[in-house]
Amino acid sequence: MTELIQPQNTIAVLQKYHFQFQKKYGQNFLIDPLVLDKILKAAEIGPEDPVLEIGPGIGTMTQALSDAAQRVVAVEIDRHLIPILQETLSNRDNVVILQEDILKTDIRALSGQYFNGKPFKVLANLPYYITTPILMKLLESDVPITGITVMVQKEVAERMCSKPGTKDYGALSLAVQYASDPKIVSFVPPNCFIPRPNAHSAVAHLRVYDTPPVAVRDVELLFHVIRASFAQRRKTLQNGISHAPALSLTKEQAAECIEKCGFSPTVRGETLSLSDFAKLSDQIQEVLG
Ligand code: SAM
Repeated sequence: MTELIQPQNTIAVLQKYHFQFQKKYGQNFLIDPLVLDKILKAAEIGPEDPVLEIGPGIGTMTQALSDAAQRVVAVEIDRHLIPILQETLSNRDNVVILQEDILKTDIRALSGQYFNGKPFKVLANLPYYITTPILMKLLESDVPITGITVMVQKEVAERMCSKPGTKDYGALSLAVQYASDPKIVSFVPPNCFIPRPNAHSAVAHLRVYDTPPVAVRDVELLFHVIRASFAQRRKTLQNGISHAPALSLTKEQAAECIEKCGFSPTVRGETLSLSDFAKLSDQIQEVLG
């Protein structure tokens, strides 16, 4: 079976298996060949590349990945899709299908077992209900991921790429930009999927850094500081960081750190760059001892 990306072929497979879409799994299957091409081009997969695909659905993108990559491991939560994937990916000996929840998958063990610890790429038309936890898991997991190419809700793609002082800038922007250089590859309208999602989508490519663009003494503390700064939007940075239980800073200590960094006492987290946050985090570490 080939060319699942053609809508009539996707529909034929779904009917053959009497497949019922599960809303709780964010199932919107891609049916646009031009969009699939854009995803594959952005991901720059070569014949030596191992690939992790999250949520293969009926295997539309998996087929193309199997043609381009060295090996594909596809993690799908919905057990009703497994027999379909076994058919659409039969005769492909470089594809492994795992029925698992990606949020519970030990990605380090998976990459050791299937990729021998080699650097790999991640591709996914992500289930929108858990986009952020999946991205955070990938970015925080200590595994050699070189690139992440994902279909996400348009607003999420914009948040990942936004700069300080803009309305979309927040903890997700900083987490993504600490680990990678994100770019929006293409905007994708709802009619490129079956069934059509309510939201518009976008393909984003994250080139994952070998070394983060800023040096910081304690990465965990940096992310506590970032989360605290955005926990209460429209409040000053001083209020944000002095109210965060994870930091246990007094108001006076928070003010001292902000002053030592050379920021205005009324500065808001929304205006600080990643390197400003790194500076603040190091300062807080010094104060906390
Ligand atoms: N890749 C397919 C495509 O482009 O047509 C399907 C994309 S659909 C937006 C998301 C897929 O992720 C579905 O197949 C869904 O069952 C699967 N999924 C949802 N939650 C998941 C989870 N926690 N772990 C693994 N797969 C999941």
